[in-house]
Amino acid sequence: MPQIKDHAYWLERSEKLQIEGRAFIDGAYVDACNGATFWSQSPIDGKPLAAVALCAEVDVDLAVAAARRSFDAGVWADKSARDRKAVLLKWAALLEAHAEELALLESLDSGKPIGDTTGGDLPGTIYCLQWFAELVDKVHGEVPATDPQFFGTVTHQALGVVAAVVPWNYPLLMAAWKFAPALAAGNSVVLKPSEKSPLSALRIAGLALQAGIPAGVFNVVAGDGAAGRALSLHPDVDCIAFTGSGKVGREIAKNAAASNLKRVWLELGGKSANIVMADCPDIAQAARSAAAAIFSNMGQICSAGSRLLVQRSIATALIGELLEVSKGYQPGHPLDPQTVTGAIIDNAQLDRVCSYIEIGKQQAQLLSGGNRLSLADAGAYLEPTIFLAEDASARIANEEIFGPVLVVILFDTLDEAIAIANQTEYGLAAAVWSSDIKTIRTATRKLKAGTVWVNCYDELVDMNFPFGGFKESGNGRDNSAHALSKYTELKSTIIRCC
Ligand code: NAP
Ligand code: MG
Repeated sequence: MPQIKDHAYWLERSEKLQIEGRAFIDGAYVDACNGATFWSQSPIDGKPLAAVALCAEVDVDLAVAAARRSFDAGVWADKSARDRKAVLLKWAALLEAHAEELALLESLDSGKPIGDTTGGDLPGTIYCLQWFAELVDKVHGEVPATDPQFFGTVTHQALGVVAAVVPWNYPLLMAAWKFAPALAAGNSVVLKPSEKSPLSALRIAGLALQAGIPAGVFNVVAGDGAAGRALSLHPDVDCIAFTGSGKVGREIAKNAAASNLKRVWLELGGKSANIVMADCPDIAQAARSAAAAIFSNMGQICSAGSRLLVQRSIATALIGELLEVSKGYQPGHPLDPQTVTGAIIDNAQLDRVCSYIEIGKQQAQLLSGGNRLSLADAGAYLEPTIFLAEDASARIANEEIFGPVLVVILFDTLDEAIAIANQTEYGLAAAVWSSDIKTIRTATRKLKAGTVWVNCYDELVDMNFPFGGFKESGNGRDNSAHALSKYTELKSTIIRCC
């Protein structure tokens, strides 16, 4: 009889979980050079999960040196694309074989519902690795037109050492969006997960070695911002790919410029507008989608639909539906498979979100939620929260909160909605709901956002569409074949043949 994977099952599995907290450098798990550690705590109940190596500059130096040696030795970069593909597919298969364990680790470390990590984070990470593995032996160069005595090619060549610095909201998936294309292209990688969620990245490093990724090609340095800073300043890092806040992104760009002008790719924050016109084809569907757009993953999604712009004539109907469906996002225990909403990443982030709720109460009308919940001793839980802001310039309507807080703003005309949508410093995503092709065409053209959804939200965030932002939401794109070129140089080779 197949075992029922209920709350008790996951609790029992979590008791037995062996957790690796050491860094992974040059093909081996190692302590930080000075032996320093920090506790990775679970936001589910505040319990410590593992002592994790607190990597400092000296550890980063070792990881970068290992990456450089492996790159220069050609043990990965000089393998045929077909061979790299085979190894990456083997790694993906090992992730699949360990998917339950990794999903559990991710839920414990980050507070995500187990249904999300088993059904979303892990399959998404595995697919990402498979996708770039499958792509890499189909990349071709160019042969430009030349005079007959010449022959020339334009080819892609791996950059060298790529540093990936990633956040805590999708710890494995955000990491995979960087390391999968970087490794597929032949680079060696040093990954720095967030100190708030380092465990899954450390675990998969051992599986990488088992799959056949040579020592030094994939390294993981756990630690705090100092490790990320050391990577951004390192003279032997050729490229730094970052996902996180604008504040840190700016610092990384400055450090890259001040050191060796390493390539910098930034995926930053958002304050995405979800615009519902009065001729929306299905108001109930728009309300369900609007709730999912902000309350999924506890609102900790860079492209969350954190602003809901509603044409005034349908405000009563849409807000009524929204308040009803938002009741389905009350937090529960993350290891209960029935739970839709888990914990906020930690109490510091919860405090930050709650301070925005206090600001919101001064500038807008609180329609629902707004309270912390004590589901477990030191757990970090918050009710889904909805504000109605009369004034579109209110702080909560413009600054990224990164929590389950939705701000509803009413408008009269499409032009007004587009102006409000475009008024923030961000440009990650947007959506428009309408039955009119002219409205859709105007909105999709004028919205300043890297992704625009029509009559849906958050659909197809997978490998086939580039993901990234306009304006201060960053540069470059993750996912799709466009992402591979971020991790290569273009080389023009011109041969005189006679
Ligand atoms: P964060 O504070 O900017 O941290 C991101 C990463 O940078 C973490 O690994 C962090 O390490 C590290 N870091 C901190 N200080 C650093 C420094 N001085 N130099 C180099 N690295 C440093 O962001 P977060 O709070 O983890 O994540 C939330 C942000 O990420 C939000 O703004 C969200 O919108 C954005 N995000 C964007 C996307 C996208 O695709 N556009 C996707 C997901 C999230 P520690 O955590 O160990 O300090
Ligand atoms: Mg944690």
